[in-house]
Amino acid sequence: MHEMNLIKNLIDKIHELASDEPGKPIGVRLRLGALAHISAKHLREHFDREVLGTSLEGIKLEIDELKDINHREAQDVILESLKFEETDGH
Ligand SMILES: [Zn+2]
Repeated sequence: MHEMNLIKNLIDKIHELASDEPGKPIGVRLRLGALAHISAKHLREHFDREVLGTSLEGIKLEIDELKDINHREAQDVILESLKFEETDGH
């Protein structure tokens, strides 16, 4: 899989999940498999570039790097969780 498609798919997924929530997404946590063909640093660079000028600009990106090459998701980049801004409940 090309890394740009990977990043675009992740961002599409974030937009999709965010559309169901009242608050703005402020944080995203990704899990990076030990055998995924991208480094955390490189993933972050692409992510930051892709969200520039969008509603996700400035979102906090956390990347958990898996070390286990035998993990069933070792080749994947997984969207683990999204954090939303607190709304006041109205
Ligand atoms: Zn690249």
